[in-house]
Amino acid sequence: HLKPVIAANWKLNHTPTDAKAFFQRFLAQVPKLNERTLVFFPSAITLTTVMDALRDRPEVWVGVQNVHTEVQGAFTGENSVLMARDVGARVVLVGHSERRHVFGETDAMTTRKMALIAQGRLTPMLCVGETLEEREAGRTAEVVERQLSAGLAELDDVQVGAIMLAYEPVWAIGTGRTATPDDASEIHGVLRRALVSRVGEKAAAGIPILYGGSVNRGNASQLLAAPDVDGLLVGGASLDADSWASIVRA
Ligand code: 13P
Repeated sequence: HLKPVIAANWKLNHTPTDAKAFFQRFLAQVPKLNERTLVFFPSAITLTTVMDALRDRPEVWVGVQNVHTEVQGAFTGENSVLMARDVGARVVLVGHSERRHVFGETDAMTTRKMALIAQGRLTPMLCVGETLEEREAGRTAEVVERQLSAGLAELDDVQVGAIMLAYEPVWAIGTGRTATPDDASEIHGVLRRALVSRVGEKAAAGIPILYGGSVNRGNASQLLAAPDVDGLLVGGASLDADSWASIVRA
């Protein structure tokens, strides 16, 4: 069984000052967790403060929420894979629902980003998920399979084996409406089978598939116990140090 990956996506929250206060409180409550991989995705501006706060906790991973489709050049406002690696980030979110639906990120862009991140020897965490309309039309499996296959299109099998995947149904993000453990397991199963057909049983079994969407301290352990759920990607409930400490121990 995979070591669960418990990831905090802070989105556009927490200044460096907030992050310092967060870690003072959080680290006092959470000792080294050998049975969990912990990941934080702060904003790019807050990232070095987070790295500093975690100086004595190298087992905790820090990642960025997005990178551009090019590594350098005249792209005002963007961040690159090279910069992420240089500051010590180890993982990069790709194709988060808000990138797709608020910023118009396409499947073609996720294809490109996944390839750049893998070539840059960082771990991409590809996010997939259907809208409510797509779910109600019975198109969930088709949508997540399409998003997955776009994300993997330019990766070789070794690179595919090193990714992380997150299933985040759009209707569950920030809504308080969580997928049931059964719903999550069902779609994680769809994703796992797609991975098996791409890279085989053994490599597919090593790819963590996280669930995200209104995870909180009340539902975290049940979701984590569901078959094929190898971790959690948490927004709102990761912002408060006490709430996050209880989720990572779930
Ligand atoms: P919430 O936990 O706030 O629903 O956000 C989920 C998410 O988008 C994590 O990436």
